Amino acid sequence: MAGLEDLYREIILDHYRSPRNRGELPVPPAVMAEGHNPLCGDEITVYLDVDGGPDDGVVRDVKVAGQGCSISQSSASMMSQAVIGKTVPEVRALVRRFKGLMSIEDADGAGDGDAAAVPGATGDDPHPLGDLEALQGVVKFPVRIKCATLAWNTLVQALDQEAPASGG
Ligand code: ZN
Repeated sequence: MAGLEDLYREIILDHYRSPRNRGELPVPPAVMAEGHNPLCGDEITVYLDVDGGPDDGVVRDVKVAGQGCSISQSSASMMSQAVIGKTVPEVRALVRRFKGLMSIEDADGAGDGDAAAVPGATGDDPHPLGDLEALQGVVKFPVRIKCATLAWNTLVQALDQEAPASGG
């Protein structure tokens, strides 16, 4: 077990030291969203370039800027890596899955050690979340869950901007 935690720590530190998809994208055509975690001082800016509509669009590129603790920054790096090339519905499903991993059910106040069932485990793919699974260790530290999910909440904000407010 300790070996696995070491591996996870290595993955997190690797993303922290060498963040993937760091930078900015021109807005427009990309959209931008900013997230802030006042509990820890983490700041994340997500630049999102979606090719197509909100229902069938494909994430062409993602860039991440910001600063903060290793959890928030490595989570953002992993997030950027995970969503590029996916369709918008796939990205939203991934966000839900990641939050499931973090045992967040959009209910605040929860947070005792009641091991919630992780949704998924669907047959063939034993590691559907890849490196992201390294972050599941933070569930033991509820304060850190906000750090881990910051990039994902910011991503959702960017996705919501991408969706045209008026049909067209
Ligand atoms: Zn943090």
